Amino acid sequence: MIIIDGKQTAFDIKKEIKEEVDKIVSKGNRAPHLAAILVGHDGGSETYVAHKIKDCAEVGFKSTMIRYEDDVTEEELLAKVAELNADDELDGFIVQLPLPKHISEQKVIEAIDPKKDVDGFHPVNVGRMVIGLPAFVSATPDGIVELIRRYKIETSGKNCVIVGRSNIVGRPLSILMSQKSINATVTVAHSRTKDLEKVCAEADILIAALGSPEFIKGNMVKEGAVVIDVGTTRVESTETKSGFKLKGDVKYDEVAPKCSFITPVPGGVGPMTRVSLLKNTLLAAKKTIFK
Ligand code: NAP
Repeated sequence: MIIIDGKQTAFDIKKEIKEEVDKIVSKGNRAPHLAAILVGHDGGSETYVAHKIKDCAEVGFKSTMIRYEDDVTEEELLAKVAELNADDELDGFIVQLPLPKHISEQKVIEAIDPKKDVDGFHPVNVGRMVIGLPAFVSATPDGIVELIRRYKIETSGKNCVIVGRSNIVGRPLSILMSQKSINATVTVAHSRTKDLEKVCAEADILIAALGSPEFIKGNMVKEGAVVIDVGTTRVESTETKSGFKLKGDVKYDEVAPKCSFITPVPGGVGPMTRVSLLKNTLLAAKKTIFK
């Protein structure tokens, strides 16, 4: 059984990105520039944005953080998005979700110029990805595919079961896994799927993205399967200083001995998600997606 080391892989990719940035800058160009809009003071969102800013510094990107209080209006936010769309010194930006209830997330996402949509949430990028055109692919599915590629996991003709059909993980991942470069036969399971245990137990590649700690038990996994655990649920813990720890969707102790490959939580998919945003920002700076 091989434990897929997302932390080390993300470290390697960051090194590659840094080398590219150094080349860009040594030719007299400005460094790639990412901005993040953060609304309110949600603990999780604050942490995610802080990580993104730190990651930028590590690879030599410029980053800008734009903060608003919870009571910012939709109009104010849309005006800032328009300003960032028009800023020639900025390659890409993200609006950290979730947004307060009085703001339409969809409206904000659709206001972002697809050429700067490094989160890959704009319908233009989703549509381009679906038909196999170059696109900004959302970070978590992109990170998972990158892990599968870097670990040279055989995917062609394999039965891939994805549990979860969200717009940010399960659904885009199902499209990527069925693309011609990957060639898996994909099943997307969800809360209405019948006999989920049996469906999962038939998977050569099982991807758990449902957000239910330790849901996937040993009896749901075939001998020799590849198991990718996307779940990250904060559960209270007396073992950590913060008072919580992250739990995956897979009951690791039961499942790992049966696997050929497995991702741990933490240290599996999470670091890859972070690095995919950097990859997209570099692509935006190099203008390779929309020519
Ligand atoms: P989400 O929007 O809540 O979607 C969950 C999906 O799982 C839904 O499609 C839901 O089905 C399905 N589901 C829930 N309970 C189920 C059950 N008992 N049986 C079968 N299907 C079930 O979640 P998400 O945003 O995709 O995130 C999923 C997990 O991944 C969360 O733990 C999240 O924190 C984590 N995540 C991690 C990263 C990372 O970087 N590591 C990034 C993103 C998300 P229905 O559609 O029928 O409701």
